[in-house]
Amino acid sequence: MDYPAFTELDTLQRLIEENRGLLRAEVVTTVQAGNAVLPIWCIELGSTDLRAPAIGYFGGVHGMERIGTQVLVAWLETVLARLRWDSHFAALVAKVRLVFMPMVNPGGLALGTRANPEGVDLMRSAAVEARGRVPFLLGGHRLGPHLPWYRGRVEDPLPTEAEALFEVVRARLHPHPFALAMDCHSGFGFRDRIWFPYARSREPVPNLPEAFALRALFNQTYPNHSFYLMEPQSLSYTTHGDLWDFLYDEHRARHRGLFLPFTLEMGSWLWVKKNPRQLFSWFGHFNPILPHRLERVLRRHLTLFDFLLHAVASYRTWLPQGGQRDAYQEEALKRWFGKT
Ligand SMILES: [Zn+2]
Repeated sequence: MDYPAFTELDTLQRLIEENRGLLRAEVVTTVQAGNAVLPIWCIELGSTDLRAPAIGYFGGVHGMERIGTQVLVAWLETVLARLRWDSHFAALVAKVRLVFMPMVNPGGLALGTRANPEGVDLMRSAAVEARGRVPFLLGGHRLGPHLPWYRGRVEDPLPTEAEALFEVVRARLHPHPFALAMDCHSGFGFRDRIWFPYARSREPVPNLPEAFALRALFNQTYPNHSFYLMEPQSLSYTTHGDLWDFLYDEHRARHRGLFLPFTLEMGSWLWVKKNPRQLFSWFGHFNPILPHRLERVLRRHLTLFDFLLHAVASYRTWLPQGGQRDAYQEEALKRWFGKT
């Protein structure tokens, strides 16, 4: 196959080749971008036991947010290196199913676009209608692929990339008693935000206490990492067609376990503020350009990814029950939904 020159795919495929004995790698499907046929990779490590907890790391849903793919490839590289010498870490990984899909939209990455090569914004493409008004265009629309945030036509099937992500989540995360997903994006705001559903409306998710518990656990464990703002996505804006809203609701309808999807939205406005020349580059709106800043961003989230892996492995020790769950629910409603 012939690939255009974007280095993330080469890096990923080199990692796969060098670590064949440690990982399970599969091309879920391929997409066409110009003359190139590009693979959508899914890489797994650790347990395949459906009774084990599972964690999914996703990135590159929006092609031009390349930093999302890069932080995940950096994390995968760290995991693979540690597996070679750290027996404690290897024992932990053996108890969890780790799923990596760091380049969901390789066509968008190759072309430098947010949308897939057909012009559809994958994060607006699921069969989810927002309740109430959404921001014009940004919330998702059907006016046409020449405008950003295009949802596709009503009669269109789900885009190939979104279908591949659904297939992976349904087969490799949904069946587990506890599964968490982290999908890495960039571009909104000055802060690094960790969002959870819903994107479609201001209503609280049924698992609000569990999301609140994970937030409390992280803040207690890493009191000096206050740069994350963890909150429901709807506090920032609501949208149609969010993939994780759809997968969250589908899981609740079909399974008994717990599935918590999160989105990491790296605040790129800060990179622009510190380096205003980035304003003149479209790529610079969504990615750190200066080498020292890129390196800082690549290491900045390793602690979070490692924390999530440990939290998933030990989910039984911190998931709130009974009165604790009620207290978290009350606190979360007060904090995010103005309810007392
Ligand atoms: Zn994005």
